[in-house]
Amino acid sequence: MPEISGPGQKKLLESKGIVVAGSAEDILPLVFYLAASGIGQLYVILKKKEDFSDLKSSLQDLNPDFKIEFFNDIPNLPNQEKIDFAVFADEYEESGHYKGVPKVLTLIRPWDGYIRTIMSTERTKVAFSQKKDGPSDNSPGLVFSRFFAGTLSAIEAIKICLNLGKVLENPLYYNLLDMEFKFGKDSEVVEDIAIQDPLKDKDLSALKVLIVGSGGLGSPAALSLALAGVKNIGLVDGDTVEISNLNRQILHSTSRIGMPKVESAETFLKKINSGIDIVKYHMRFSKDNALEIIKDYDIIVDGVDNLPTRYLLNDACVLAGKPLAEAAVLRFEGIAMTILPGKSPCYRCVFPKMPQAAAAPSCAEAGVLGPVPGVMGTLEAAEALKIFGGCGKLLSGRLLIFDSLEFNFMTPVLSKNEKCPACGENPSIKDLSGNYDFVCENT
Ligand SMILES: [Zn+2]
Repeated sequence: MPEISGPGQKKLLESKGIVVAGSAEDILPLVFYLAASGIGQLYVILKKKEDFSDLKSSLQDLNPDFKIEFFNDIPNLPNQEKIDFAVFADEYEESGHYKGVPKVLTLIRPWDGYIRTIMSTERTKVAFSQKKDGPSDNSPGLVFSRFFAGTLSAIEAIKICLNLGKVLENPLYYNLLDMEFKFGKDSEVVEDIAIQDPLKDKDLSALKVLIVGSGGLGSPAALSLALAGVKNIGLVDGDTVEISNLNRQILHSTSRIGMPKVESAETFLKKINSGIDIVKYHMRFSKDNALEIIKDYDIIVDGVDNLPTRYLLNDACVLAGKPLAEAAVLRFEGIAMTILPGKSPCYRCVFPKMPQAAAAPSCAEAGVLGPVPGVMGTLEAAEALKIFGGCGKLLSGRLLIFDSLEFNFMTPVLSKNEKCPACGENPSIKDLSGNYDFVCENT
C-alpha cells in the first residue's frame, strides 16, 4: 500500500467508513482521497444504479489494499462490525443504521455549500435543499464545490479515525465564488437559494491552463479542471511516479510507478475526459525554460513542491504578465493567493526573501495530510476559472490560510510592496538570470 506520512498509518488501515451519495459523480474526489490516505475499508451506498467496475479498479490501482464495496441500499452489516465514520455527500436521511457513528454531512451546490460533523449519538435534523432530479448538472461551480466538500470530508474522516485536531461541530458555510468562509450555529438551516453559476454555459474550449507540477497540488487542480470542461491543459513535471507520492497524488497509481508523472497524469485525465488535450513537458521547470513554456498559456497554476521553483514561477509570471493561481502546503496547513501581475501583490510582495534551505523543509521531510493539498489544488483551479470568467471575488490581494487541524479559514488582506524586487516601482528582477538554486529536493 502507499506509504502514509506521519502517525496513524496502522490505525487508518484498520478503519472502516460508509459513504452515502446520489451518484458516482458526487463521490469524486472523496473516495480517491480516502483510498490514497490508507483507509482500510469503505462501503459506498449510491442511489443511482451504475457500473462501478472502472471506479473500483482505479481506486484499487491507487491503493491495492483498499477494500471498497458498492450498494444501492443500506447493507446489512454484521452487528459487531464497528464503523468509524459516515460521510453523506449531498444526501442525508435519518436512519437508525447510522446510530452512534460520527457523521460528516455536506450540502453541495454550484460554488457554495455546507459541511458539518456530528460526533454525538443523537439524531439530528438537518435542513437540506430539495435534491434536483433529472440529468446531473456538471457546471464548473458544481465540480469545484464537490471537490472542496469532498476533500474537506476526507480530512474530517481521517481526523475522526485518528482522533486528531478539532472537527467541524459548528457548520462551515463556504462560497468559492467569493472565497468566503463562515461558521454557523448548530440550529441554523441552509437557505435554499442556489448561486447561479456564471460559468455554466461558458465556452471553455479556447482557455489554455498550465499547471507547473503534477503532484499533490497539481493532481486535484488538473482533475477538477478536466471535469469542469477545460480542454487544453499543459503539465510540467520532470519526476517519475514513486510509491511515496500515492498518499496524496491522486492522478497516479501503483501500476504507473516509474512512469513520467506527466504521462501518468495524461493517462488518468484521458480516462476521465477523452476529449481533453494535454501538452506534456517532462522536464524540470527552470529559469532556462520558464518563459518559453508559460508564453503559450492564459493562466498558470502553481503545483510546485519547493520554494526556489515557487519564486521562479512568480518572477516568470510577473515578467510575462500571466495570472498565477498560487498555493502551498506544509503538514496540516495550506496557503493560497492569486497574482494578477501589475494589479495585485505578488508572492515576493508577501514573502520578499527566499528562506534558507534549513528553514524550509520539503514535503518529504515534513509530511502532509493527503487531502490538504487536495483542498488547496481545488481552490487554485477554481481561481483559474474565475479569472477566465471574470466572475466572483478572487484571492488577489488576499492570502487564504487553511488550518486543517483547527479547521479554520482566514483571508487577511495583502498589500503591494512598493519595494518588491519583482513588481515594485523599481524592480531589480528584470529577467530570470538571478539565483534560483534548488536548495531542497523534490518530493
Ligand atoms: Zn511583488
